[in-house]
Amino acid sequence: MLSSVLSKENCANCRFCCSFRRQSLWETPLFDAETVEKLSELYPEAHFKPRGDVYTIDIDGDYKTDDSEEEALCPFNKDGCILGVELKPFDCSIWPLRVMRYNGGLAICLTPTCPVISQKPLSVMRELADGAVGDRIADYARSHPFIVKDYKEGFPVLRIIS
Ligand code: SF4
Ligand code: SF4
Repeated sequence: MLSSVLSKENCANCRFCCSFRRQSLWETPLFDAETVEKLSELYPEAHFKPRGDVYTIDIDGDYKTDDSEEEALCPFNKDGCILGVELKPFDCSIWPLRVMRYNGGLAICLTPTCPVISQKPLSVMRELADGAVGDRIADYARSHPFIVKDYKEGFPVLRIIS
């Protein structure tokens, strides 16, 4: 969805947003029950656990050390995400954009850690959030409130959506 600012080549050698330190587990991808059922059949080695009304990957057992900087990889990343459009979480398709609770409402915010997007002027990302991409994200968040996350300090607010 972010192809105007992020190419497949950009992501090909980077899996930063598909691996998680323990402190980043709040960012793991979210799946509805129907998708979990399909994925469990296709990829029985993947584990899930409930988060609220939906599910996320369970990679708690994948850490090998006590190092807080150690990263555990999403089971669906095998030199890139192996999930097609119909199974890939919406959350993943909009990263590094996030919908967050902000000042009593909702806002489209920017995760500041993508090495490619962080090089772009904030005005470019604001334009994207203000346009059709932002409209689609806002609509999805209203009908799928489980993707809404708590605001994190330091995440630029691109657009207030409610
Ligand atoms: S961090 Fe950014 S560049 Fe790296 S894979 Fe994720 S979206 Fe692509
Ligand atoms: S589902 Fe795909 S895009 Fe999302 S974190 Fe896992 S490998 Fe990355």
